[in-house]
Amino acid sequence: MDPIPDPALVVLVGPSGAGKSTWADQNFRLEEIISSDRLRSIVGSGEHDLDASVDAFAVLDQMVAARLKRRLLTVVDTLGFDNERRLRHLALAREVGLPTILVIFEVPEALARERNRQRTRPVPASVLTSQLRRFRQLRARLGEEGWDLRTAGDEVAIKPARAIGSPAESAAGPGRARRMRMVLHLARFTGAGDLRTRLLSMSEAAEEAGFDGISLMDHLVQIPQVGREWEDFPEVFSSLGFLAGRTTKPTLGALVTNVRLRNPALLAKMLATIDVLSGGRAFCGLGAGWFKAEQVAYGYEFEDPGRRLDRLEDALSILPLMWGPGKANYRGKVESVIDAVCYPRPTGRIPIIVGGRGSRTIKLAGSHADGLNLVGTKNLRQHVDLFRASAVEASRDPDELEVSVLDTPLLGKDRSEVAAMVEANRGRLGASVFAATHNAGTVADHVDRLRMLAGSGVGAVYLSPVGLASPEGVAAWKPVVEALA
Ligand code: GDP
Ligand code: MG
Repeated sequence: MDPIPDPALVVLVGPSGAGKSTWADQNFRLEEIISSDRLRSIVGSGEHDLDASVDAFAVLDQMVAARLKRRLLTVVDTLGFDNERRLRHLALAREVGLPTILVIFEVPEALARERNRQRTRPVPASVLTSQLRRFRQLRARLGEEGWDLRTAGDEVAIKPARAIGSPAESAAGPGRARRMRMVLHLARFTGAGDLRTRLLSMSEAAEEAGFDGISLMDHLVQIPQVGREWEDFPEVFSSLGFLAGRTTKPTLGALVTNVRLRNPALLAKMLATIDVLSGGRAFCGLGAGWFKAEQVAYGYEFEDPGRRLDRLEDALSILPLMWGPGKANYRGKVESVIDAVCYPRPTGRIPIIVGGRGSRTIKLAGSHADGLNLVGTKNLRQHVDLFRASAVEASRDPDELEVSVLDTPLLGKDRSEVAAMVEANRGRLGASVFAATHNAGTVADHVDRLRMLAGSGVGAVYLSPVGLASPEGVAAWKPVVEALA
């Protein structure tokens, strides 16, 4: 059976005692279930206060409408027999584009009567008889209303809507089938203790969780998308040098280095040193830079896009020359080197991963770099096609190059924790929008999602988890990393 997507409208239909409320309580969070019985006990004197029904259903309709408007998963726990109400809820869900699921609770009549008898407050036998009759009649017509029909016996799995089959968006095309690398991307350095201890404990946790690599952001101050400018934000290559000495397995690099901040020959020198000191674990993320405020503050002129990309192009030529045999000589549009040597040489080829989604950036990645890193999977197919075509045009084998994605997922241990984390981190974004943007989910959800990405040719994912602030937060990813291995 297909999982129930979150969000969706889930409406239960069945006679009293069929097990609707039990099923709802077992599978959903309390806040997601709108139950007419519970509302009777709130607006009236108890679950069986039938005099409170009109008020209870008025409140119920309002609650259902309010949740659906916000695209929140909504489970309607009533008998489900009221055609008008059921169809009204169906229409509301469709208006906001939510999947609509009707769960039918069928039990043998004798069992329904038996369960009813055993309840503290049984429904009168005659009422149950009439319910069973109405249910039989209704049952025959439910298929025509346009719901996705389920029966209560089906196994229930609830999956974030994003994680359910959206291969179209993630289809990165061919590419060689290989294991997807998982890199932990550290973008924020706040938390308990001193910076040295924090950076070290996070990195050790990453290594212990089995991450293939660790990447750090290269900025001079924290960026506004992530935190405040007065937060600790260590210089990237000094930090990588520290990690080179304190870790043993993961690859190390900046995602990505702004090519404007260090002259390319110097950058080559720094990376070669980190590569040697780390035993061959350096990689080179490279981008044209975008954060004007930090550059101006630090005395760099913030150049126009064309010149920034000229610099990127020059750096892409200079770096391999610096790392290769002989002296490097290159005269570029902006950057040049004259008889430059770089010893020590790196231990091998330092992969260059260009970050960005502009078409010239992607073309440069295809013609010069070893990989392209995209933020998220929006227009993935289109970007990958351009990347691969640019590689072919430069007489390179696109299957030798790697497409990677920077992912900012939210991981919780169960649906309740996921919901609580969404609420804590969403800022002003609606919960359902935030959850979808950050693929909020459990280990199982992320394993499914990342497998899908891997299957569509994405070679590496750089994970920058929402709210990551402790080694425990890193360790929580271990089962995902292991499942993908
Ligand atoms: P509802 O009226 O459809 O909401 O039914 P409830 O969920 O309140 O269940 C009615 C009674 O049947 C309760 O006493 C439940 O404990 C019991 N019940 C519900 N589901 C099951 C089931 O799958 N097996 C058994 N044996 N009892 C159940
Ligand atoms: Mg009930």
